[in-house]
Amino acid sequence: MGIFLYIDVDAFFASVEQSINPSLMGRPVMVGGHKGERGVVACPSYEARALGVRTGTTLHEAARLVPDGIFLRGDYNRYQYFSDRFYGILCRQTPELERISQDEACLDITGSIRTFGTSRELAIGLQNEIRKTLSLSTSIGIGPSRVAAKIASEFKKPGGLTIINNENIDSFFSNLAIRNIPGVGHRTEHVLHEMGIDTAGQLAAVPGKYLETIFGINGLKMAAYSRGEDGPRVRDYKVVRSVSRETGFADDITDRQMLLSHFYYLLERGAAKLRSINKKAATVRVKFRYADFETVEGIGRITPPSNDETIIFPIVEKMFTAMFTRRRGIRLVGIGLANLKNYAEAESFLNDKAEKSRRLLKSLDATRGRAGFFALMTGRTLSLSERYKKGDTGYVLRTPGLSQ
Ligand SMILES: [Mg+2]
Repeated sequence: MGIFLYIDVDAFFASVEQSINPSLMGRPVMVGGHKGERGVVACPSYEARALGVRTGTTLHEAARLVPDGIFLRGDYNRYQYFSDRFYGILCRQTPELERISQDEACLDITGSIRTFGTSRELAIGLQNEIRKTLSLSTSIGIGPSRVAAKIASEFKKPGGLTIINNENIDSFFSNLAIRNIPGVGHRTEHVLHEMGIDTAGQLAAVPGKYLETIFGINGLKMAAYSRGEDGPRVRDYKVVRSVSRETGFADDITDRQMLLSHFYYLLERGAAKLRSINKKAATVRVKFRYADFETVEGIGRITPPSNDETIIFPIVEKMFTAMFTRRRGIRLVGIGLANLKNYAEAESFLNDKAEKSRRLLKSLDATRGRAGFFALMTGRTLSLSERYKKGDTGYVLRTPGLSQ
């Protein structure tokens, strides 16, 4: 049996801001945008959470709940810098480390410590070092599986340390509320309650096969998690069905060329994603939202299927031109690539020209992988540089989660 340590920085973005500017310590900080702007709070500090602000609370609502709160736009590069240093500290502990997100990691410490007793010392040492060098608070969970460690890390926040070992694992899971099991969202929780299941212990008593018929692969996962076991590796099962990218604007945009540049940029990102998973799309969805929230969507066919933005873009341009009929500003644009085909399925369409273009795109992706997104720029997206800051991996769009 292994020993795993799951570590999670508490209120990461807000804590970084407080770490950089100590006058913000102890005050309600909300990262996501300025007061009165559109959008949502991406990360409230614990002081803001105490006043009712959650991740996803609109900025308007947050300003109502915390009128004298500190609202910050946030800075991706700053968070990445802290993330790198956080990982630097963890890497010195063990190379057996799984990067979950910028501020969450799971360490396999089976080989580096001997007992759960010494794992406590290791955890306290890590918390102290991260507090001393980065001024960040972390919550840690330790357990005999990755999922047990993760659940333990969420048990006491902020600054918590919870250890699940062979002695207490049964009692811990038998009383655990199902909403604390990873993958159980609001909808699943509701269905389980309807079935009379409120705790992980009750869930563990239901045959996995039965849960699979109701929830699919997620049911098998839940069955294992409810016993504190890692279960099937879901990543292997997960099939990407579509790739979409969208972004909202701080101010409405009416300029057609500027809007097309945004579409091109999003398409570029989406197509690169398809290439990275060896897929081609047979349909493209174009979506935009007017200032008054009317949303317009259209789906176009890509024949033959493609993952080359230079081939797909003329379709997008034509569709957008036909759909953009009102003389109104636009607040959000998005593209979706779906109906995905494997290369083999699309191969029959392959001709010399497509092969040449495929090689070109491959070297483009490789160069960007080495030297960063801006090593190569296309004319279309160059015009966006007036509006956005450049991050290592591309423009920093206003909806940070979608900048990928
Ligand atoms: Mg966190």
